Amino acid sequence: MQEGVIQYQLTYVCQPLPEHLDITLLEACRARLFAASLIGQDDQRYAGLGYGNLSHRVELQGMPDAFLITGSQTGHLPALTRQQYALVTACSPQANRLQASGETEPSSEAMTHAVIYQSLPSVQAVIHVHWPDLWQNARKHKLWVTAGEIPYGTPQMAAAVQQLVRENGFPSTGLVAMLGHEDGIIAWGKTLAEAEARLTYYQ
Ligand SMILES: [Zn+2]
Repeated sequence: MQEGVIQYQLTYVCQPLPEHLDITLLEACRARLFAASLIGQDDQRYAGLGYGNLSHRVELQGMPDAFLITGSQTGHLPALTRQQYALVTACSPQANRLQASGETEPSSEAMTHAVIYQSLPSVQAVIHVHWPDLWQNARKHKLWVTAGEIPYGTPQMAAAVQQLVRENGFPSTGLVAMLGHEDGIIAWGKTLAEAEARLTYYQ
């Protein structure tokens, strides 16, 4: 399965983000991850496609699990504008459907983010990076893992993450190595800083 291809059914409305939504915190965090090559692009990896994405829950009336997420195919860019973020307004992991707006489509890994927000109401931020060294040493570090036969961005991945969260007592912060997604690590927290700290702990 090719990296970067959206696997879910997307209902998308191309329109600017609501004005009150702010990308400043996300951009500051993203810049640090980009500098560490945890988000980026490398001609030698994943057929040269960009990798890594992050998201933050937002306040929107009637949309309890809405979140802002970096747009599809933005991993190679050192900094993003508002036009390069998408707003996920609803999702159904069971039906593999996702609804979004913005001036770019959401990351192909938005479904995994959505499942974490739905399963864990206290979680405010989710970060997905590619980190070969940590991923290869997932067992040594005793990381939570999803199985090697489960590819990224699929309903199976959504179900596997839901199951992990359940089995571990609905942790408000966590870090998972997705063994079916080369180098893929996902972390979450009650704040963006907490999610980032889960990652930097291993640097
Ligand atoms: Zn990825």
